[in-house]
Amino acid sequence: MSDPIFEAALAAEALGVIAGVAPAYLDGLDARPVRDHSTAPLLDALAGPLPEKGHGSISALEELARVGTVAATHSSGPRFFHFVTGGSTPAAQGADWLTSLLDQAGGLETASQLATRTETVVLDWLKDLFALPESFGGVLTPSATFANLTGLACARMWWASEHGVDVVADGLAGLPRMPVFSSGYVHASSRKAMQLLGLGRDRVVTLSGDDRGSLDLAALEDALRKSGPAVIIANAGEVNAGDFDPIEAMAELAERHGSWLHVDGAFGLFAALSPRTSGLLAGVERADSVASDGHKWLNVPYESGFAFVKNPEMLKLAFGSWGAAAAYLTMGDPDRLDYNRLGPESSRRARAFPIWATLRAYGREGHRAMVERHLDLARRLGDGVEASPELELMAPVRLNIVCFRATPAGVADLDDFNRRLGRAILEDGRVYLGTSIYRGAVVLRPAIVNWRTTGADIDLILDVIAELTARLLAE
Ligand SMILES: *Cc1c(COP(=O)(O)O)cnc(C)c1O
Repeated sequence: MSDPIFEAALAAEALGVIAGVAPAYLDGLDARPVRDHSTAPLLDALAGPLPEKGHGSISALEELARVGTVAATHSSGPRFFHFVTGGSTPAAQGADWLTSLLDQAGGLETASQLATRTETVVLDWLKDLFALPESFGGVLTPSATFANLTGLACARMWWASEHGVDVVADGLAGLPRMPVFSSGYVHASSRKAMQLLGLGRDRVVTLSGDDRGSLDLAALEDALRKSGPAVIIANAGEVNAGDFDPIEAMAELAERHGSWLHVDGAFGLFAALSPRTSGLLAGVERADSVASDGHKWLNVPYESGFAFVKNPEMLKLAFGSWGAAAAYLTMGDPDRLDYNRLGPESSRRARAFPIWATLRAYGREGHRAMVERHLDLARRLGDGVEASPELELMAPVRLNIVCFRATPAGVADLDDFNRRLGRAILEDGRVYLGTSIYRGAVVLRPAIVNWRTTGADIDLILDVIAELTARLLAE
């Protein structure tokens, strides 16, 4: 095979290859282990030198599908509890295929009115879903890291302007260091955003008086009194135990001290969907910027972050002024929607479609029901942990993460034991969850985010842990 033009007639058949393997793959997701380590050698089939002569569309896709459906980590199934990653609802998955079929240049109205108009619709729907003010500006981003980057880039621009500097045009040189305060809950992704923005990864001052990392409000007030205009990062959903910073009190302080409040709600923003947990987010509507992530609790495929900014003009100023160097991009036409100029990316896929489809398919009620099912499942797991003499709950279950460890009788070094248990769980592959460090102890911290997860999947966590604990003790 050579020039793809000769395979134009095979384009639909090529899609059919994937559609052909999908039913068996999807049907098997509930039963299959999350990860089968014995399939790793299959990956060798994908390696080798760059082919001189192509194998043709159908052959290449059959090969990739054959290896992929077996050797993948089946993280879109119901028992992937590692990190905080959701799966992909049927509607979102279908729309993701459509995104590829239509292959729109997603950001520019001149290139695709379909994509830009849909992005506007989903941003409005998401603001409504999270009870954020309609007046907020927004943009879809590849991930929560990029959403944090988007919010913090606006914060940096605002802060520099307080010092009389246009940071977009002139950069940070000559400015003092930007004061950034948070609790110990601050996520590595906010630090990465700071690193990329030239603010320094390690320059977040974390103000906490306890070993959990929770915010010391009095220390924050004190710091703000001394710092001048500053940026505060509030964390809505901490990754070890699902705890929240006190956003309302932080908003109060930000307003009183002329500072910027950024909220990282990568998964925690979804607490807004249930009256049982929405109180955790009180005050979020007063934030200057908010970041979140659809690939987590919305259950749309990667890549699907979103950033909201109280003053929509800030997005344009922070990302839109490309100067005169790009005249061909029809800049400066105020009537054209141009999401490329509202966020850190330029060309990008039409990532609004999966979000639109899942919200249209299941609505506010459906997504609330899913979130509440996960809240119930987290409680069920927490109750199971508390009922077991060999397990210890390390933090109250506030949301969808259960933080606990194994404490079998007679084990002196619990950190070492739980580290080994964590490795054994991943090796086993029936349920997939990792370890972390919480209050100085090695813990397990399954996060329940996938739309497919049921009570049986949760109960299997406890069964697998009991079985592997017994095996490790017998070694
Ligand atoms: C997952 C997560 C992020 C980063 O999200 P990505 O989509 O991986 O970039 C940021 N903050 C919090 C609290 C998270 O849980």
